[in-house]
Amino acid sequence: MFDGLKDKLSGFRKDVEENADVDGSDERDDADADESDAASSADAPAADSDADGAGDSVVTPETDAGDDAGDADPSTFQRAKAFATGRIIIEEEDLEEPLWDLEMALLESDVEMSVAEQILDTVRETMLGESRKQVDTTGELVESALHDALLDVIAVGQFDFEERIAEAEKPVTIVFTGVNGVGKTTSIAKLSEWLDERGYSSVLANGDTYRAGANEQIAEHADRLDRELIAHDQGGDPAAVIYDGVEYAEANDVDVVLGDTAGRLHTSDDLMAQLEKIDRVVDPDMTLFVDEAVAGQDAVNRAKEFNDAAEIDGAILTKADADSSGGAAISVAYVTGKPILFLGTGQGYDDITLFDPEELVESLLGEE
Ligand code: GDP
Repeated sequence: MFDGLKDKLSGFRKDVEENADVDGSDERDDADADESDAASSADAPAADSDADGAGDSVVTPETDAGDDAGDADPSTFQRAKAFATGRIIIEEEDLEEPLWDLEMALLESDVEMSVAEQILDTVRETMLGESRKQVDTTGELVESALHDALLDVIAVGQFDFEERIAEAEKPVTIVFTGVNGVGKTTSIAKLSEWLDERGYSSVLANGDTYRAGANEQIAEHADRLDRELIAHDQGGDPAAVIYDGVEYAEANDVDVVLGDTAGRLHTSDDLMAQLEKIDRVVDPDMTLFVDEAVAGQDAVNRAKEFNDAAEIDGAILTKADADSSGGAAISVAYVTGKPILFLGTGQGYDDITLFDPEELVESLLGEE
């Protein structure tokens, strides 16, 4: 999962380390040179002892270093001092090229432009700023800067889904939006199973009355999982189907109603009108947007579009198992202001995991 992006992030770490090392080894060379100058100066009097006399020709390393520092510009002096005391100083010029490469890498990985810029700003600030963390090596500094920058954008709006379900008055109604073919129906079935494993019963309601075959598609999952399915004929009113789902849940003590909706209607006005009606009639506790991680930038754009049409509470990203770029996983929360709640990680009903931003960041930065 997200292997392409992992490689690119570790490329940035190496870039900065190399740049900083070049500078570091310059300093080291200077320091070595000073020492050998000093050593040869110290040796010299012995060889020339009958000329000027030892006292005059001895140049101590301290004096030599002091002179060098006096000649150098202040930042070089600062850097030399930092090097001597083991602290890390990264200068803007050290970062210029690696940051450019990082931006390209993020964009190539389908990270949305504003998200990539935000990540770069945080990395730059963390690495150059006064408030720089105390770390031992350049590698650690890069790691902590990238960690903070990624977490900042990925964890936007994050909340505890399980807690929300536990605390909500039952039945909890969840409506799913998103285009067809991305794994919306499968995700509803997976979530039904996920809830079952945590002791919550659920009923499926097929609010996608628009598409031919939609009832059969969701009925197959309901049969396999042995769940009740509420469905009306094609062309029926989606709000009425989900309403019936809520009634069924209330009458039968079912904890959660999982309501599908049509993927996309003719215009976003139709879509909005339909979702608005569902809002009015059943007042869902949550609206979750489903899309596939592999769609990258398209998934990010759709998330924004759906959120604008009818505000979502969170997202499910499917097919993360097949996604190497990671761009959608990084961008969706920042762009919509709503968190990713689950990742779909395969075709089985168990292949769904709660989204954990910290875990994702650690895996993106992990050495493998
Ligand atoms: P819908 O039209 O959006 O309802 O899409 P479906 O639920 O029918 O899923 C479309 C295809 O994607 C099916 O073959 C699913 O098995 C597959 N799919 C769904 N979720 C995942 C996932 O997380 N990983 C993988 N690899 N395939 C998935």
